[in-house]
Amino acid sequence: MFENDATRKTLFAELLLPVPVPRLFTYRIPFSLNDHVRVGQRAIVQFGDRKVVTGLIFHIHENVPKDFEAKSILEILDDFPSVNEMQLKLFQWVAEYYMCTLGEVMNAALPAGLKLSSESVVQIHPTFDLVESTLDFSEKESMLLKRLEQGTMTYSEISKFLGVKFIFSILKSLSAKEAIILFEEVKEKFKPKTEKRIRLHTKVNTPKVLEELFRTLAAKPKHEAILLKYLQEVPVLHDPEANRTGISKKALLDGDISESAINTLVKNEILEAFEIIVPRFGFADARETAVILLSEEQERAQREIIRSFEQHTATLLHGITGSGKTEIYINLIKKALESDTQVLYLLPEIALTTQIVQRLKKIFGASLGVYHSRFSDNERVEVWNGILTGKFKFVIGVRSSIFLPFDNLGLIIVDEEHDASYKQQEPAPRYHARDVAMIVAQFHHAKVLLGSATPSVETYFHAKQNRYGLVKLDKRYGEAHLPEILLADMSRERKMKTIKGEFSGLLLQRIKEALNRKEQVIIFQNRRGYSPMMSCEDCGWVPKCVNCAVSLTYHQFRHALVCHYCGYRENVPHHCPTCTSARIKTVGYGTEKLEEELNVFFPDTRIQRMDLDTTRSKTGYDSILAQFENGETHILVGTQMVTKGLDFDSVSLVGVFNADRMMHFPDFRSYERAYQLITQVSGRAGRRARQGQVVIQTSNPDHPVLNFILKNEFETFYQTQLDDRHRHDYPPFTRLIEIVVKHTDKRVCQDASRRLATLLRDALTMIKVMGPGEPMISKIRNQFLMTILLKIFRGKSDLVQVKHQIQESVDSLSKEKTFRNVRMIVDVDPV
Ligand code: ADP
Ligand code: ZN
Ligand code: ZN
Repeated sequence: MFENDATRKTLFAELLLPVPVPRLFTYRIPFSLNDHVRVGQRAIVQFGDRKVVTGLIFHIHENVPKDFEAKSILEILDDFPSVNEMQLKLFQWVAEYYMCTLGEVMNAALPAGLKLSSESVVQIHPTFDLVESTLDFSEKESMLLKRLEQGTMTYSEISKFLGVKFIFSILKSLSAKEAIILFEEVKEKFKPKTEKRIRLHTKVNTPKVLEELFRTLAAKPKHEAILLKYLQEVPVLHDPEANRTGISKKALLDGDISESAINTLVKNEILEAFEIIVPRFGFADARETAVILLSEEQERAQREIIRSFEQHTATLLHGITGSGKTEIYINLIKKALESDTQVLYLLPEIALTTQIVQRLKKIFGASLGVYHSRFSDNERVEVWNGILTGKFKFVIGVRSSIFLPFDNLGLIIVDEEHDASYKQQEPAPRYHARDVAMIVAQFHHAKVLLGSATPSVETYFHAKQNRYGLVKLDKRYGEAHLPEILLADMSRERKMKTIKGEFSGLLLQRIKEALNRKEQVIIFQNRRGYSPMMSCEDCGWVPKCVNCAVSLTYHQFRHALVCHYCGYRENVPHHCPTCTSARIKTVGYGTEKLEEELNVFFPDTRIQRMDLDTTRSKTGYDSILAQFENGETHILVGTQMVTKGLDFDSVSLVGVFNADRMMHFPDFRSYERAYQLITQVSGRAGRRARQGQVVIQTSNPDHPVLNFILKNEFETFYQTQLDDRHRHDYPPFTRLIEIVVKHTDKRVCQDASRRLATLLRDALTMIKVMGPGEPMISKIRNQFLMTILLKIFRGKSDLVQVKHQIQESVDSLSKEKTFRNVRMIVDVDPV
């Protein structure tokens, strides 16, 4: 009856499902799949009554579940595992360390395109043509393909259309034949990237006809020039086949050749225009062969890093802005790739620009994969699979790329390691990619290079303690020097009446001078919108969000008041609802207002704004940067986005607004943040021969933080911060765990947080339990918030046990009827 032993065995699989339940789920493996299953493969299973989801096979075993009957796996999606054992180990580590479920980790780790479910949407593959295809399709497959040519369908629509309950085997087969694409949800349609190309029309593609053609074209030099250039670039006379692929229109365009002239030749059937689909990654560009010559300083730093790697897993490269850290990275990446290991280069979200990608593409060509959240699902799946197949040895990416399926990492670079965007805030896992990188490196026996001009206090501490290596670069590359920093004393200028709008006389003067010298200017203000608040001049009333405890930001462009926490929007009131006064003014200023004022002060100057509002579209960001880079724009006004990693030749002046607000923010990291932000944005000025200038507007010109920045005294600044943290039991002397308690009823929220704090105090006598307290913003999206902060002394308590206790307290509280709907969010190492 059975063919052999292996097929007769009843096997079970423990599956990791993308649901927030803290356990694995047991499914039976159908006999037919016995020879096929492997840990790390994706499997399709039914979850609940109606849902179908993708799970990951975590273990395979023969233990029959005792108290329930296991459902069968419907289909295995992979021939080879999509997730390797090291990743599964990492998922487990992340779930335990950051106190979340494996399902939540899986959700963060796998690109949506790998997590097929009953909500999935199916689309015909853009390059697929049923008529031209030479592949074999079953009757059902052809039926479906014909139907899909009319538009996308959901899983359930297909199921109904075909009259088949589980359609994954059909989808899998079509997907393997590259006939369809699957989406997790209808978000954006996959649009292949195309390139316009030009070739000789078939009517003229013989030497004889060409000869004649040149005779007739002699009177039209423009057309002749195009044809000559084409023949020069594409050797059709020696190799007629070369005409098939032709030349890209862009390449033909340069100099004297205009697009309209080309179009005329196309119309006259001398040339032919056609399009090809180009892969997004990996078209093998001509590689840059020139080797980078490191400066003596860079050489020394590189030698020290390599030596440091012999003793340390992690090394900090503390190099000032413009010191040429990137070139050192590039060299080390080359070395790691030469020794046949993989490389991961992490960058904060908004520092991952086209600028750096293009630079690296030129050097590393097709082996470089780019993993970015601005990319679509499909592009991310392309990178994931590219690593599995060995196509990509080197990936540059944002924080989630730490979860990619590497199996042989040699080097991880964490650039701008101090950047807070490495920490995921919402949803769980609330992981910190830099810290997870350390664990990944351990699994792979890889090395980590942390780079920054303004290292975090924690990292610098570890480096000073010799837990990490420490290498310094104190000079800018080449002739460049650090910029001169000037403080615009706003109190004094106010008295002297030299302020115009929000701009100090000093800053305006310097902008004018820079523009006269044809140099560019960056203005940094970390607030978007026109002004963060409106207020009634007569009674002081302030429009607030109906869902959150914050004032609404006025956006002039949309002529609306908007909540930056929940997106709520309302019209600007004509009258004050409390006193009916019509005198409602704006208070404070954001990027929009600064842009407007600059347009008034410098009417002949091209000014652009770069913030969340102007960069929402995928290309908005790149085009703003491109226009700034090629000099079309003279002044760039923006939020944090302008501070990170940009490298422009002719920026000579940076203006910093509202430094005071940054420093007065009530958080133990606010000085550190202010130091980092101001130093980073200052670092955009004067990156070439001419020394740059920075003007910081402040009402506290004697503030110690500004003084440290002025004198570039990182070391002393760091020491003051460390002392502060020691005095108040903050990291690196303690570990923090924050618990946010949320409920729609303020009383319930307060009661629950008090109860939780008491439970924790009683159970955890060795740690400090602070709170509960109301956070700065005490209500978001109609949920009231209370926070509890735990300070755990290093070496005094067992972290695993503490976490266990926290979980137990949270669980026991949620079991009480009054607190059933209270959300308690545990954030390990909050940032
Ligand atoms: P950082 O990342 O440390 O702020 P970058 O790596 O961006 O600095 O370097 C600053 C500038 O100096 C860049 O324009 C870079 O191309 C240039 N540069 C650095 N090192 C070299 C080198 N060895 N050869 C040529 N140019 C270099
Ligand atoms: Zn009023
Ligand atoms: Zn709101």
